[in-house]
Amino acid sequence: MTIKDLFKNPPLSKKINVKGWVKTFRANRFISLNDGSTIQNLQCVVDYENTDQAILSKINTGASIEIFGILVASQGKGQSVEIQAEKIIILGESDPDSYPIQPKKHSLEFLRENAHLRVRTNTFSSIFRIRSSISFAIHKYFKENGFVYVNTPIITGSDAEGAGEMFKVTTLNINKAEVEDNGSIDYSKDFFGKETNLTVSGQLEAENMAMGLGKVYTFGPTFRAENSNTSRHLAEFWMIEPEMAFYDLIDNMNLAEDFIKYVLKYVVEDCKDDLDFLNNRLINEDKNKPKQERHELTLIERLNFVVNNDFVRITYTEAYEILKNSKPNKKKKFKFPISEWGIDLQSEHERFLVEKHFKKPVIIYDYPSKIKAFYMRMNDDGKTVKAMDILFPGIGEIVGGSQREERLDVLKARIKELNIDEEELWWYLDLRKFGTVEHSGFGLGLERLILFATGMSNIRDVIPFPRTPKNAEF
Ligand code: ATP
Ligand code: MN
Repeated sequence: MTIKDLFKNPPLSKKINVKGWVKTFRANRFISLNDGSTIQNLQCVVDYENTDQAILSKINTGASIEIFGILVASQGKGQSVEIQAEKIIILGESDPDSYPIQPKKHSLEFLRENAHLRVRTNTFSSIFRIRSSISFAIHKYFKENGFVYVNTPIITGSDAEGAGEMFKVTTLNINKAEVEDNGSIDYSKDFFGKETNLTVSGQLEAENMAMGLGKVYTFGPTFRAENSNTSRHLAEFWMIEPEMAFYDLIDNMNLAEDFIKYVLKYVVEDCKDDLDFLNNRLINEDKNKPKQERHELTLIERLNFVVNNDFVRITYTEAYEILKNSKPNKKKKFKFPISEWGIDLQSEHERFLVEKHFKKPVIIYDYPSKIKAFYMRMNDDGKTVKAMDILFPGIGEIVGGSQREERLDVLKARIKELNIDEEELWWYLDLRKFGTVEHSGFGLGLERLILFATGMSNIRDVIPFPRTPKNAEF
């Protein structure tokens, strides 16, 4: 039985058999066992007088063991049931002196270096169970709302998006690649006969699929070779990208808000034990911080707050005005002062809006076209596009989306203006030639949502094996 099932429906007085890893072994008598199915440990009472000394000496933190015994109501505090061990088998020994995960508090940095074992800690097993629950809720939401799950390519032949921050895919021998006279590499000799990269977004292909399936979404790995060593960026992350025919920007915002609330609500209900643990973890962490740095709400209160309250919606221009007249701007506290209308909002600005000014998630829409991508639909003012970003407290941007430009002539003009190779996008332009329709979509970074759901502050701690600049261990 898994420990989770056992607590749910305790087969009292029955002979049972469990397997797991030893968390602690106290007084030669009490084993705290965990099998990953739940954050709760099962207490196993060892009959030390009748247990072989050779076995007792191998019940060490980190060892894997199998226990046969009888489940009884617990006499001690702290657990409802416990198992009285009749037989213990050591499955895999663990040397107590060299096992890195000692039964004490480790720093997150230390655990990152031991990412292969950190899943045995309460914090990380909780995070990864929550990650799994979120992923399931995402599929469930789309299934219930009539979306088709599509898989867009991971190796992409189009570099229209994100040029410069892509990982090259090649089978050329890079030590003696075919070089042309002008010094560039001859990709016609490469595997695909052209330059290819790992995808930075499945959007363009998802738009393609939506133009026949109506409502689609992708959910897959995404790669960005951006050299930004922040606590919000990974070189490999997972992105959810819905794309909907016949949706305008307002429909798009409504969907994104409803979707995020649904997923968070699901997790609050599905992951009670894990969230309780992380909630207390953060309360304890806050106790060691100066007052002004402490959270006003606990993790669970923050999740419920987001689920139960409308997101603020403001235009870029409104956001710009608020920021321009804000205290930190007037007191020159921003690293990037708010100057002309049209500037890109920096993370410090976004955080001011969500954390200080509104104190709730904010959707900013109708951005200046100059700071947004070529495919976003131009507004009638000729200066702004139907883009929307959703900003979350403690995180910043969690969603980036837009209504897409469906008018062939306008799209072509934008492509030309930005010096993008039109030939590359022939298939994307075809969508505007044959039965074009109003449509919209967005991208949500899975790890950023998990950051919010778990209260963790570094994105490296919510993906099992993070890839970041100079780091691809494991
Ligand atoms: P940012 O400004 O934070 O770099 P972006 O504008 O590059 O984000 P988009 O291209 O709109 O982001 O991607 C959609 C979503 O994907 C973002 O809102 C974010 O949640 C997520 N995302 C983007 N880049 C990363 C990354 N390097 N690591 C993790 N998640 C990311
Ligand atoms: Mn980015």
